[in-house]
Amino acid sequence: MDWVESAEAIGEVDELLASVGLGHGRRKTLTGTWHGGERRAKGKEAQSSGSVSHTFQRRYSTVGSEKGEGQPASGIEVVRAAGWERYAWLRHGFSTRAGGVSEIYGEGSLNLGFTKEDEAAHVAENRRRFLAEVAGGAAARLVTLRQIHSGMVRVIGPGGVEDGEIFPTSQSRDVGHPVLQTADGRAVLRGDGMVTDVPGVMLGVQVADCVPVLVADVRRRAVAAFHAGWRGTLARIVERGIGRMRLRYGSRPEDLVAVVGPAIGACCYSVGEEVRHEFESQFGYAAELFSEVYDSDPVRERYPLLFLTARAPGHSNIGPQIHLDLWEANRRQLLCAGVKAKRIAVVGECTACARMGTGLKYFSHRGESGLAGRMMAVVGVAG
Ligand SMILES: [Zn+2]
Repeated sequence: MDWVESAEAIGEVDELLASVGLGHGRRKTLTGTWHGGERRAKGKEAQSSGSVSHTFQRRYSTVGSEKGEGQPASGIEVVRAAGWERYAWLRHGFSTRAGGVSEIYGEGSLNLGFTKEDEAAHVAENRRRFLAEVAGGAAARLVTLRQIHSGMVRVIGPGGVEDGEIFPTSQSRDVGHPVLQTADGRAVLRGDGMVTDVPGVMLGVQVADCVPVLVADVRRRAVAAFHAGWRGTLARIVERGIGRMRLRYGSRPEDLVAVVGPAIGACCYSVGEEVRHEFESQFGYAAELFSEVYDSDPVRERYPLLFLTARAPGHSNIGPQIHLDLWEANRRQLLCAGVKAKRIAVVGECTACARMGTGLKYFSHRGESGLAGRMMAVVGVAG
């Protein structure tokens, strides 16, 4: 299914609503990368000059729509990067909430994280189903991490973890650890990124708004998975991870393909001023990652006296919200690491507001006020 979200299309809806006296939407974006719901991909897909292009390449598809015959028998909906199917040895996928056995987050949901609310047996069954779908029946061993919002990348070799990032803390005791998970499948290693070239090892990062980024070296046949929330993004997890691929596998940036998976979008991700300051101190392009979103509630505009506050100027909660575009932030890191713009896919679906049927398509920590399951992004070399 192809559809385009354009300013014109949204404008038509606005006009229709206005004609019956209704305002559509409470938010206006005044600056930054988000233009009233219009993504920049429109008409610019071919632009691939790289360095300063802001183009979002909205290239993605699901298993169901690719096959053109509905979802697979399991009911699992896997989101994949378009074009990656040409690499027969490469396995990858992003889960949605559909097709599992969990009940706590909604009947039949595919929670892939051992959360405190869900039953471990449900999570294990969900993981088995999702892995079977992604691996396509081939032997697959899932490796996950105890994610800590860091910039730490682990190398998974045939005998376990090869080395830890040099961390002057107790975390370095993981170095050389041969055990990657407990008997019941729980992660042992700490970190937020993994790289491997071992066939059959499927690297899995867990997310519920944070950005999953998958990278593959199509010449050396090595893969990487990253978990990038705002802290991991600030710690340059993606740039560091690609650096690790270069060191360990001799990867050349021009041989890399990458996909930025479903994650909370600039539409829904408001952050504090301190986050903007942190990004400004780290990235020369930080200004391009933030937008100021003003409350444009028509009731407030018409009856401002109802909303006067007694707080000192600058301390009222009326004013712009700062929204952060983590998709773009991670796309920029891929570019800085030398990945060609045309080989970077951005799924472009917001976990907090993308819908499937009548419900949310993804789990969202923000969208569900903290009571959310976990999705998984998986990548591996076929075993
Ligand atoms: Zn959103």
